[in-house]
Amino acid sequence: MRGIKYLLIITVLLIALAFVLTNFVFTQSDEEEAEVTDTADTTTSVTTEYDPWEDENIDNAWAMFLVNKNNPLPADYDSMIDTEVVFESWREYELDVRAADYLKRMVADAKEDGIDLLVVSAYRTIEYQQQNFDNSVKDRMDNRGMTYDEAYADTLNEVALPGESEHNAGLALDIMCEEYQSMDDDGFENTDAFKWLDEHAYEYGFILRYPKDKYAVTGIIYEPWHYRFVGEYFAEEIKKSGLCLEEYYQSMGWLDENGKAIKMRGPYEEIEREKEKEAETSVTVETEPKKTMPSIPYSEQQVTIIV
Ligand SMILES: [Zn+2]
Repeated sequence: MRGIKYLLIITVLLIALAFVLTNFVFTQSDEEEAEVTDTADTTTSVTTEYDPWEDENIDNAWAMFLVNKNNPLPADYDSMIDTEVVFESWREYELDVRAADYLKRMVADAKEDGIDLLVVSAYRTIEYQQQNFDNSVKDRMDNRGMTYDEAYADTLNEVALPGESEHNAGLALDIMCEEYQSMDDDGFENTDAFKWLDEHAYEYGFILRYPKDKYAVTGIIYEPWHYRFVGEYFAEEIKKSGLCLEEYYQSMGWLDENGKAIKMRGPYEEIEREKEKEAETSVTVETEPKKTMPSIPYSEQQVTIIV
């Protein structure tokens, strides 16, 4: 019995040795090849071969795209997506229909845990964002004696340009709770609602989009209330990594040196594909998706953080 055991161990060791040796030989030749390629291609980019949009194990890869100063949405994005009411308080809040059920499930599950989440902002049309921006510029010119250029620059500090806010994509939400609804500071992080979100949001595909100490990267202050849908797979990956979305993109080699997403598949291609499918299956006249202009919630009138 003992003899067989030793024989087995020796066999395993021999196989392992053979494996290591073969690998060593292959690695050597790989490295040589790599050197040749490196010298041949001096304009190497950081793109990786891995393509999440082709990975069938990843849910909602379409939702994985960047929206920020360097990556604005197309001006006609409002007409490209369908939205759905996901939350009702004194008004209705909408999200992209494809993310809607995740949010509804999250709110319902939180409630079961005794947490009442309160959505205070969700989808905003680009048109609405434009009005908001223009009003802010006008207010500075009328009431603070600024020139147009001054007012424009000053507004940029507080209000995202149309198409540069994730809210315009229908994938972002500002979530607070009854007890705490101020965006003047980050006190919301001390609430049970925040603790619940911090622990569970990723399970529903949402990430805390502007974490603490990431201002230098995101250009946006810490917003414990702002959550962004990226799908369950990426939400978990990003949470585990401790990176913010821009940093995660960088780590995957999906950003160029100007912060522009190299791989920005998703919103456009997915929508185009769906449209093509629809056109193939029916010849009916296209109906304009209904767009409602949301009225400005009280909390947003008070603070003009429009990111
Ligand atoms: Zn927000």
